[in-house]
This record gives sequence, C-alpha cells and structure tokens, in this order.
Amino acid sequence: MGRYRVVRSSSSAILGTLRGREGVNHRDVSLMSRTETDKLDLAIEEKVTQFRRKLLRYACGGNRRQFPWREKTRSPYEVLIAEVLLKRTTSTAAAKIYEAFLLRFPDPLVLSRASTEEIAEHFTKVGLQWQRADAAKKLALYLAEVDRGEIPNEMDRLLLIPGVGGYTARSVLSVGMGIACAVVDSNVERILQRVFMRSIPLKSPLSVVQKIADKLLPVAHHREFNLGMLDLGALICRPAFPRCQECPLAKVCDYRLRGVTAAATKSYVERDRVAVSVRRARKKKRLTLVELARKARISKQTVIRIESGKSMPLPETIQKIANALDVSTKTLT
Ligand code: SF4
Repeated sequence: MGRYRVVRSSSSAILGTLRGREGVNHRDVSLMSRTETDKLDLAIEEKVTQFRRKLLRYACGGNRRQFPWREKTRSPYEVLIAEVLLKRTTSTAAAKIYEAFLLRFPDPLVLSRASTEEIAEHFTKVGLQWQRADAAKKLALYLAEVDRGEIPNEMDRLLLIPGVGGYTARSVLSVGMGIACAVVDSNVERILQRVFMRSIPLKSPLSVVQKIADKLLPVAHHREFNLGMLDLGALICRPAFPRCQECPLAKVCDYRLRGVTAAATKSYVERDRVAVSVRRARKKKRLTLVELARKARISKQTVIRIESGKSMPLPETIQKIANALDVSTKTLT
C-alpha cells in the first residue's frame, strides 16, 4: 500500500490515514521563508477546526451535486474514467455518456482491446472524440501492460499512467479507493487562496496550496470533504461574483473578512486572474496588444491596464475582448 494505510468502511467511518503527504513539491514549499511558513502554519492551525466543521456540515447537508461517478459503489477504474470524461467538458455532458461507456468498456482490459474508432464513437456527444479516444486507449494499454488491468493504489504509480496528473490521481485515491488525500483542482485552489489570503502570497505555487489542503483534510471524512470543496468552488466560491452571503466559510475567510467581496470584480484576486487569462488567450491567438485593442474596439491603454492587473474590466469590456478573441467570457473570468 506504499505510504498509505487504507481501511475500507462506510461513509462516516474512518477510511484511512495518510502517512506521508505525497505530491507536495517540497522544493517549492521551501521557497517560502521560515517566517512565511510559520505564519502559514499558524493561520492554518487557527482555522482548521472551524474550517473542517463548516465545510463538512455543508458537504453533508444536502448541498452536494449528484453525479453517477460519485456513487460510493464506484470502482477506482470508474472514477478514473469519469475524470477522463470530465476533461474539457461539463459534468452534465459527461453524465450523459458515462454509463453507456462503462457498460461497453467495464474495465481497462476491455478498453485496451477496443479500437480507437470504437472508443471515439462513444465520445461523439461530448466532442474532441479522437483526442479523448486516444487518451483513453493509451491509459488502458498502459494499465493492461504494466498493472495487469488493475488501478494502482499509490500516488507515484498513478502518476505514471498516461494523462493522469496530481488532481486525477488524488481523486481516484480518495473517491475511488477510500484513501485519505486532499484533492486540489482550480476550484479548491481558489477557495484556499481566498480563505488564507492574508497568509499566502498571491500566485502561491500549487505546492503551497496543496500543503494547506493536506493540513485541513479530515482523514475520517476525506471523501465528503473533498467532494464538498469541489462543489463549494463550483457553486459558491465562483471565480467571479462569489456568493459569500451563502458561504459556510464566510467567518473564516480572509477575502470575505477584508470586505473585498462586495465589489468582487474589483478585487485584486480577480484582476490578477483576468489579467493572466486575457494575456494567455491573446498570445494563443497570436495577436499583439494593438491588434486586440482594435478588434475589441477598446483603447490599447485599456488592454495594457487589464493585462497588467491594474484594472478590472467591466463585464461589457470582457464581452468585447471575448468576442475579439473568439472565446467565451468564462474563459477570461
Ligand atoms: S466567503 Fe466568499 S470568498 Fe470566502 S470562500 Fe466563501 S465564497 Fe469564497
């Protein structure tokens, strides 16, 4: 079992104990000075009990989204396939093809023997069928050849599977295997960046955020906690316009307590994120600042201010930029 101890049990029972906090890039964390680390440890310590209790109450209080891959009887393979499906598509779209996919490809060995063409057919409803089919086939071939069709229960080995990164590996371990580890996706990262805004620098490396998540994770209820965090990020602590009035973490959240949420679009967190998104999207389209300004019918100065994070564009301006770049506003916000 590697570094983990696993105990399989019912929902409220203790499922496992994380012995080693894998996945934390200690080199990145160690870039923080001793004072910064102490400050962060203290901030986590101060909030850990309240954070866990509030989040678990939210997660277990009927607020969670229901998806077929979240059923407790799901195997690690089924959780892994869900994560493959969820890449670059919505949960609603993925849910439509999930059961049919598993019915035809119930395990990695069956999937590895199928042709890419046949796998692609199952993805037509969610788009990018050839890329998805290639990814699924590679993943299945690897599992068939290296792990005899089994899903490994160690982080290091999961990360060797083609297409599997830290988030997917942790999701498979926690949701699919009952092994306690903290799942961090962009939603969870945003929540933690906001809740601990006074203690961690903006744009903290993922390793710092993962360290916070690891410390907050209640081992006994890691599955509920992880799913609750994902849902809170998707439904309440949204990138733009977080619904702090309804948030169970409002009383422990630096972002909220600083009073920046009333004007969420003006917050530096949002400004920074939009700045990065606009810059990235513009570069992807190979447009200069001037060209984007011309296409969006805004001044070059406005683009410069947005991309440098000095000002938060109004929704209308975001719409104009999105139109000019031919992307959705969601991509930029
Ligand atoms: S209080 Fe607001 S900013 Fe803080 S975690 Fe909740 S929704 Fe996010």
